[in-house]
Amino acid sequence: MRVDSFMVTGLDRWAAQHEAYRARSPAPSQLPRLECLELTNDCNLRCAMCPRSGARPVGYLDLGFLGRLLEREGRWLQGQHVWLHFHGEPLLHPRLLEAVRLVRAAGAYPRLSTNCTLLTPEVSRGLIQSGLSYLVFSVDGWSPTTHRALRRGSDFEAVTANVLQFLRFRREMGATEPLTQVQFLDAGPTHEGIDRAWELWADSGVDFINIRRISSRAGQVRGWRRLRLPGAPAAATKDRPPCWWLWHATVVLCDGRVAPCCCDLEGSMILGDLRHQSLAEVWGGPAYRRLRQRQAEGRFEGLCARCEDWLGYHPSEWERLRKYAGGAPPRQGDVVRVHNIVAVGRRGAGRIAE
Ligand code: SF4
Ligand code: SF4
Repeated sequence: MRVDSFMVTGLDRWAAQHEAYRARSPAPSQLPRLECLELTNDCNLRCAMCPRSGARPVGYLDLGFLGRLLEREGRWLQGQHVWLHFHGEPLLHPRLLEAVRLVRAAGAYPRLSTNCTLLTPEVSRGLIQSGLSYLVFSVDGWSPTTHRALRRGSDFEAVTANVLQFLRFRREMGATEPLTQVQFLDAGPTHEGIDRAWELWADSGVDFINIRRISSRAGQVRGWRRLRLPGAPAAATKDRPPCWWLWHATVVLCDGRVAPCCCDLEGSMILGDLRHQSLAEVWGGPAYRRLRQRQAEGRFEGLCARCEDWLGYHPSEWERLRKYAGGAPPRQGDVVRVHNIVAVGRRGAGRIAE
């Protein structure tokens, strides 16, 4: 059975990046995977697990910039699965559908994750026709009370109705895309009775169900002790290898600046700016080289000093993936599970838990 939450793609690129990582090369020759291209850091909710310090002004990706970026870096983006969100609600972008279409037309596979509060009939139908390849419904909890414990400002009944409506539209329109996933967090306030969330969505027609642990986002989540899943394993913050992120993937904020990883929500470790530089200039530039060099020497600074999230993206995780591919290395197109997944399931394939 194939299970889980991300599709294995770009194995050739991965192998070359892994080689550079093993050699601790400060300037890897392979360009990174684009993990996130943020449409906006604006949000209409204030979720308990979301660190928002206000350090970054609210902004929206400029479509003129997006067009230039796709033209300049189009070859690199071909075939990549790119999340068009990062630290915000992407459905707030006033030109959401245009952005999705542009990215798909450039040969990449755009993905979104939404809090589902703005999934109106018009937006839902538009997304189904836009070329979006994957959509995550972030719906936490299984009742108004458990939902509110994490998703402050959201209405559970309304959000659930929006998701079911989206799935109905997709069925009625005979669309095969986007693939869909309901995701919810197994956390302190929602742990008791988490199975009820699973049962709620099992027959909904959604393609994947995914239960995840909350990330501390390199120690930035307030009240982390209360929120974390009791007994959840923690990664070492000392005596550890350099972070794999720095050799294989990158994040572009909505203003075009480049952040190293999905923990840097407020852009505290900016490594370049795609408004004025090419991706190759940023990836091989002095800021990235210095960060790699220092981590290779065992020096972890800034966010990295207290980060536990590096482990989930470390190549050692790939050993675990073999287990799910019947002992063989993952193959192109395999769908596999990653570090912070508690349980996953695919439509018609049942549930697998750790
Ligand atoms: S977790 Fe997502 S929906 Fe919640 S406040 Fe943060 S960006 Fe908004
Ligand atoms: S160590 Fe943590 S904060 Fe630093 S780049 Fe890696 S994932 Fe990001």
